[in-house]
Amino acid sequence: MGRMRVAVLGATGSIGGNTLDVLARHPDRFELQAVSAHSQVDVLEAICRQHRPKWAVLPKADAAQSLQRALQAAGCPTEVLVGPEALVQVAQSPEVDAVMAAIVGAAGLAPCLAAARAGKRLMLANKEALVVGGAFFMRAVAEGGAMLLPVDSEHSAIFQCLPLNARAWPETIDHIVLTASGGPFRQRDPDSLHAVTPDEACAHPNWVMGRKISVDSATMMNKGLEVIEAKWLFHLAPDQIQVLIHPQSIVHSMVVCRDQSVLAQLGTPDMRVPIAYALSYPNRVASGASRLDLRQTASLSFEAPDPRRFPALQLAWAALRGPEGSTAVLNAANEVAVDAFLARRLPFTGIAALVAEVLSRLSPSAADVGSVGDLMALDARARAIARTVLPN
Ligand code: NAD
Ligand code: MG
Repeated sequence: MGRMRVAVLGATGSIGGNTLDVLARHPDRFELQAVSAHSQVDVLEAICRQHRPKWAVLPKADAAQSLQRALQAAGCPTEVLVGPEALVQVAQSPEVDAVMAAIVGAAGLAPCLAAARAGKRLMLANKEALVVGGAFFMRAVAEGGAMLLPVDSEHSAIFQCLPLNARAWPETIDHIVLTASGGPFRQRDPDSLHAVTPDEACAHPNWVMGRKISVDSATMMNKGLEVIEAKWLFHLAPDQIQVLIHPQSIVHSMVVCRDQSVLAQLGTPDMRVPIAYALSYPNRVASGASRLDLRQTASLSFEAPDPRRFPALQLAWAALRGPEGSTAVLNAANEVAVDAFLARRLPFTGIAALVAEVLSRLSPSAADVGSVGDLMALDARARAIARTVLPN
């Protein structure tokens, strides 16, 4: 068999960079076929020069033209493609075997769906796409015969603890426990949270990540999105999903089986482990992660999240129990709120408040969730409402 041809969507990001690192360790197994970026054209250029993929995708024509000229001058054969249509085209190309979905936010939904329908190995880091797409996304995976592999560390952990045969999952699982680090504000006085800055919120104790997911980790909305993600990936009811704070980020999540046997996956906190597993499943390849030395780990501790400190977490269950489409509303409102917080237009505590407000104002109906077009329209409506609720 030939090498697996991989497209890395969101190649300039944190997950994208970690994916390129794992790929470069195994040139005999993997071939980088396509990359994409939203901005950071210089970083994308460096990636193309180093890895020489067949395609590179940028959102705008002017940036794409200048990249194409620079690559040509450097003797790099990469062809530069433009726009969201090109992302879809790459995701479903017969010359691509596997897609790493590492775009941040709902913007990643269309290429994810395209990869799902085209029956690709779909390595999903972009949890927002599943939170927005929900049942629709899972249908596309089933109909396209895609292999959906979680990259989020918690979901990779659960996946690694479950039987290979997914048909056995319902009879295996009593419930799952998603672990959370608790982020940078785990022990901070909740009454002081309104004043925290974007840089404080992005200073994660255990993981280096993009700014959006870093803020989501600080509010624990990230764990909320992961609860929704887990529901779809593992076909669970909302009350089969529990969240525990585990500040050391060594136990990446657990499955509690019907017989009350508890299976956990452990390791150093390094995203290259779930990335390598998604690339090599059902086999394993070296990831570059360092060895877990439990002698150096003082203790492993677990605690229940404090709802007063982390109101965003409860909103995820509320959205899951609401009408279909509510999780898309939650996600859109959260993306607007996080952008506003990063731009210093909204206090940290305003994020969960804004999401709750938008959820209370917009209750989706069946007509809002019939197609990707409907979902994107619902997403746009939720964003518009969120913007009107924002302070000026
Ligand atoms: P990041 O901000 O570091 O990178 C995001 C990537 O997406 C960049 O390449 C950027 O150019 C691209 N992008 C941004 N907006 C875009 C748009 N509108 N259209 C097309 N491309 C766009 O983010 P990240 O930390 O790598 O996270 C990526 C995804 O993986 C997120 O969904 C996140 O929740 C998920 N994830 C990340 C981690 C992590 O450790 N970083 C862990 C688990 C899950
Ligand atoms: Mg995670």
